[in-house]
Amino acid sequence: MRRKLAAGNWKMNGTGAALEELDELSRMIGTTALQVVICPPAPLLYRACEAAQDSIIAIGGQDCHSAAAGAHTGDISAAMIADTGAQYVILGHSERRADHHESDADIHAKVKAAWAAELTAILCIGETAEQQQSGTTLEILATQLAGSLPDAVSATNTVIAYEPVWAIGTGKVPSLEQIAETHDFIRDTLITRFGETTGNAVPLLYGGSVKPDNAETIFRAENVDGALVGGASLKASDFAPIIAALD
Ligand code: PEP
Repeated sequence: MRRKLAAGNWKMNGTGAALEELDELSRMIGTTALQVVICPPAPLLYRACEAAQDSIIAIGGQDCHSAAAGAHTGDISAAMIADTGAQYVILGHSERRADHHESDADIHAKVKAAWAAELTAILCIGETAEQQQSGTTLEILATQLAGSLPDAVSATNTVIAYEPVWAIGTGKVPSLEQIAETHDFIRDTLITRFGETTGNAVPLLYGGSVKPDNAETIFRAENVDGALVGGASLKASDFAPIIAALD
């Protein structure tokens, strides 16, 4: 049985007051065997870890630098994220790939840095609208997986999030058949590269406009083990029903 996971990416939203949502979320979801992760902006990491310490919610960063330390003004290392008590870090999000020109090679180095700090990497991959329209989605996913995922993958150090760029924040969601096809492809690619045991154990998340009213349908796909949720993770009242749909 693969672990199921619902991760919320708050992006560049929220100041200290937003941490009240963690209490509210914890109260609303109660006890569950699912893994629930919230990735707030970096300045909130310490306080988020404190606020979530008696709950089932784990905390994650949204990016880390590939170097352990050094002259990189404005960046944060994986060890700094781990030092706050966080357990996860999102890497290769399409907004970072676009806004900060992150390449697969950059992301590959960041995943290694995350593992060295004992963080679980939530590695994001996904095609743009143009790539989808030109029918190259699976090719793009294969290239991103090959380029950004290092060899030492394990069942616990990595989660893959498939996020079609055109579905992020747009309200557009692929059909269940498209979601099933891409997740099956990612699963097969992992099995081919890492073998049955590891390839089958890495959780695969879908991300892109997941909302309370479409989550249940999306989670029907066999290789969807959860979701990476942006907008609908900001309010506990939106995220809790998505988590309930996965349970
Ligand atoms: C995301 O940013 O990873 C995301 C999936 O955003 P949204 O849920 O808002 O589309």
